[in-house]
Amino acid sequence: MIRKFNQETYTWDGVDTLVYKQDNSPFKDVTRQVLFDGAWDIPCQFRYFEVQPGGYSTMERHEHTHMVMIFRGKGQCLLGDTVEDVQEGDMIEIPKLMAHQFRANQGDHLGFLCLVNVDRDKVQVITPEEQAEMMENPAIRTFLEIE
Ligand code: MN
Repeated sequence: MIRKFNQETYTWDGVDTLVYKQDNSPFKDVTRQVLFDGAWDIPCQFRYFEVQPGGYSTMERHEHTHMVMIFRGKGQCLLGDTVEDVQEGDMIEIPKLMAHQFRANQGDHLGFLCLVNVDRDKVQVITPEEQAEMMENPAIRTFLEIE
Protein backbone atom coordinates (compact mmCIF):
# COMPACT_ATOMS: atom_id res chain seq x y z
CA MET A 1 0.00 0.00 0.00
CA ILE A 2 1.26 3.47 -0.82
CA ARG A 3 -0.13 6.57 0.85
CA LYS A 4 0.88 9.64 -1.12
CA PHE A 5 2.27 12.57 0.85
CA ASN A 6 1.01 16.09 0.24
CA GLN A 7 3.96 18.50 0.54
CA GLU A 8 1.67 21.52 0.92
CA THR A 9 -0.39 20.27 3.84
CA TYR A 10 1.88 17.64 5.44
CA THR A 11 -0.90 15.07 5.20
CA TRP A 12 -1.12 11.61 3.66
CA ASP A 13 -3.88 10.19 1.47
CA GLY A 14 -6.48 8.38 3.53
CA VAL A 15 -5.05 9.44 6.91
CA ASP A 16 -7.23 11.54 9.22
CA THR A 17 -5.80 14.54 11.04
CA LEU A 18 -6.81 14.12 14.67
CA VAL A 19 -6.66 16.07 17.90
CA TYR A 20 -3.31 15.31 19.58
CA LYS A 21 -4.82 14.04 22.87
CA GLN A 22 -8.29 13.73 24.27
CA ASP A 23 -7.46 12.98 27.90
CA ASN A 24 -7.42 16.62 29.13
CA SER A 25 -3.60 16.71 29.18
CA PRO A 26 -2.21 20.24 28.81
CA PHE A 27 -0.98 21.03 25.29
CA LYS A 28 -1.39 23.73 22.65
CA ASP A 29 -2.00 23.50 18.89
CA VAL A 30 -0.88 19.95 18.14
CA THR A 31 -2.32 17.52 15.59
CA ARG A 32 -1.86 13.75 15.28
CA GLN A 33 -1.93 11.47 12.25
CA VAL A 34 -1.62 7.71 12.66
CA LEU A 35 0.33 6.49 9.62
CA PHE A 36 0.66 2.83 10.63
CA ASP A 37 -1.19 1.01 13.38
CA GLY A 38 0.80 -2.20 13.81
CA ALA A 39 1.03 -5.56 12.05
CA TRP A 40 1.64 -9.01 13.54
CA ASP A 41 5.41 -8.84 13.03
CA ILE A 42 5.75 -5.08 13.61
CA PRO A 43 3.77 -4.32 16.81
CA CYS A 44 4.43 -0.60 16.49
CA GLN A 45 2.42 2.51 15.85
CA PHE A 46 3.99 5.11 13.58
CA ARG A 47 2.54 8.58 14.01
CA TYR A 48 3.13 12.11 12.72
CA PHE A 49 2.59 14.94 15.17
CA GLU A 50 2.66 18.57 14.20
CA VAL A 51 3.01 21.47 16.61
CA GLN A 52 1.87 24.78 15.10
CA PRO A 53 4.10 27.84 15.66
CA GLY A 54 3.84 28.81 19.33
CA GLY A 55 2.34 25.49 20.36
CA TYR A 56 3.67 22.70 22.56
CA SER A 57 3.11 19.03 23.32
CA THR A 58 2.29 17.70 26.78
CA MET A 59 5.13 17.63 29.31
CA GLU A 60 5.03 13.96 30.25
CA ARG A 61 6.85 10.76 31.05
CA HIS A 62 5.97 7.07 30.70
CA GLU A 63 7.46 3.58 30.76
CA HIS A 64 7.43 3.18 26.98
CA THR A 65 10.20 4.39 24.66
CA HIS A 66 9.78 6.88 21.81
CA MET A 67 11.83 6.96 18.66
CA VAL A 68 11.33 10.40 17.11
CA MET A 69 12.52 11.99 13.87
CA ILE A 70 11.89 15.66 13.15
CA PHE A 71 10.14 15.82 9.78
CA ARG A 72 9.16 19.47 9.44
CA GLY A 73 10.60 22.77 10.58
CA LYS A 74 12.33 23.43 13.85
CA GLY A 75 11.83 24.07 17.53
CA GLN A 76 13.09 22.83 20.85
CA CYS A 77 12.86 19.61 22.80
CA LEU A 78 13.07 19.14 26.54
CA LEU A 79 14.61 15.79 27.45
CA GLY A 80 15.07 15.16 31.16
CA ASP A 81 17.05 18.12 32.45
CA THR A 82 18.29 19.35 29.06
CA VAL A 83 16.82 21.60 26.37
CA GLU A 84 17.99 21.14 22.78
CA ASP A 85 17.31 22.92 19.50
CA VAL A 86 15.90 20.42 17.00
CA GLN A 87 15.28 20.63 13.28
CA GLU A 88 14.24 18.53 10.30
CA GLY A 89 16.21 15.29 10.15
CA ASP A 90 17.24 15.12 13.80
CA MET A 91 16.59 11.82 15.56
CA ILE A 92 15.65 11.70 19.23
CA GLU A 93 15.47 8.61 21.38
CA ILE A 94 13.36 9.16 24.49
CA PRO A 95 14.07 6.46 27.07
CA LYS A 96 11.61 5.15 29.62
CA LEU A 97 10.49 7.56 32.35
CA MET A 98 12.34 10.57 30.94
CA ALA A 99 10.33 13.81 31.03
CA HIS A 100 9.86 15.25 27.53
CA GLN A 101 8.12 18.07 25.69
CA PHE A 102 8.33 19.56 22.20
CA ARG A 103 7.84 23.28 21.58
CA ALA A 104 7.48 25.09 18.26
CA ASN A 105 9.18 28.15 19.73
CA GLN A 106 11.46 29.11 16.79
CA GLY A 107 8.86 30.80 14.57
CA ASP A 108 8.20 27.62 12.61
CA HIS A 109 6.12 24.48 12.61
CA LEU A 110 7.61 21.53 14.44
CA GLY A 111 6.51 18.24 12.88
CA PHE A 112 7.86 14.89 13.97
CA LEU A 113 7.45 11.19 13.27
CA CYS A 114 7.15 9.05 16.38
CA LEU A 115 7.43 5.30 16.75
CA VAL A 116 5.89 3.54 19.77
CA ASN A 117 4.92 0.02 20.73
CA VAL A 118 1.23 -0.74 20.14
CA ASP A 119 1.14 -2.12 23.70
CA ARG A 120 2.22 0.72 26.00
CA ASP A 121 1.53 2.28 29.38
CA LYS A 122 -0.48 5.44 29.96
CA VAL A 123 1.18 8.84 29.93
CA GLN A 124 2.01 10.50 33.26
CA VAL A 125 1.65 14.28 33.05
CA ILE A 126 4.42 16.27 34.79
CA THR A 127 2.67 18.21 37.56
CA PRO A 128 2.86 22.01 37.93
CA GLU A 129 4.78 21.40 41.19
CA GLU A 130 7.39 19.28 39.37
CA GLN A 131 7.60 21.87 36.59
CA ALA A 132 8.21 24.61 39.15
CA GLU A 133 11.09 22.54 40.53
CA MET A 134 12.48 21.94 37.03
CA MET A 135 12.39 25.70 36.39
CA GLU A 136 15.24 26.18 38.85
CA ASN A 137 17.31 25.18 35.81
CA PRO A 138 17.59 28.46 33.80
CA ALA A 139 17.52 26.65 30.42
CA ILE A 140 14.27 24.95 31.37
CA ARG A 141 12.79 28.17 32.73
CA THR A 142 13.49 29.93 29.41
CA PHE A 143 12.07 26.97 27.48
CA LEU A 144 8.84 26.95 29.50
CA GLU A 145 8.40 30.71 29.45
CA ILE A 146 8.59 31.11 25.67
CA GLU A 147 5.06 31.12 24.29
MN1 MN B 1 5.50 10.80 25.15
